[in-house]
Amino acid sequence: MTVKNENEGKKNESDVSQGTALDNEDLWGSDMYPERRGRKFQHSWFKILIGTQGRESIDKNRCEHNVYKCIKESPIIKLMMGALRSSGCEIDIRRHISCEVCNPIVTGGYDSQFNQIVICQNSAYNEDMVRGVLLHEMIHMFDYCRNKLDMKNIDHLACTEIRAANLGHCSFMSSLLQGDSSFINIKATHQNCVKHKARLSVMAVHKVSKEVAEAAIERVFTKCYNDLEPIGRRIRRNSFDMPRAYAEGHLYGYDM
Ligand SMILES: [Zn+2]
Repeated sequence: MTVKNENEGKKNESDVSQGTALDNEDLWGSDMYPERRGRKFQHSWFKILIGTQGRESIDKNRCEHNVYKCIKESPIIKLMMGALRSSGCEIDIRRHISCEVCNPIVTGGYDSQFNQIVICQNSAYNEDMVRGVLLHEMIHMFDYCRNKLDMKNIDHLACTEIRAANLGHCSFMSSLLQGDSSFINIKATHQNCVKHKARLSVMAVHKVSKEVAEAAIERVFTKCYNDLEPIGRRIRRNSFDMPRAYAEGHLYGYDM
């Protein structure tokens, strides 16, 4: 799951921290992704009148256009597509990627039961955001394909959230700090970013307390943080890493 951003995440944190464990049916049926499991997104006529709703088809078109652009043009997304294909989990974009209206605190999700990536058309509204969500959720899809993850097992979930934060969001963030940080600071900042981001996602999916989520993350952190498959190295934005990770994909045995 991709939780929207730091501020939204904090709001989410307090919303969900009181709850007890819920099963995935609840998560996918109503909480975060109202279009899943047969429920159609409900219009609010008031919001339509004031012009903030009723634009779902415009959002959907824009979202699908952004997905298509990322898949055609983004080196890192193409690398993930190749890695999934080589692992026997080829992505058919019409079957496996769906633009939907979500709870605005999330920007995306991976539905393991249907093996589908959800891009939240109402909150991931530009190409950069769609690329970030796609990368994050494709790492979940890859982990699910490779390891047969059990998303109800909190340690499994913690592991794949650590990997998604590590290979995606936090590597982009840490590159912004490099000018004025020592290597040790960057390393600590990066690890804290991964733990923080993973904790928000684990708490949102499992509705557990901060302590329970942190304990799960600590149990699996070293192993999962050091597992850089299928990208092979952390990606830094505005560096040569992205095209390099893509260009060297074949060295890891992935069919591009
Ligand atoms: Zn996630």
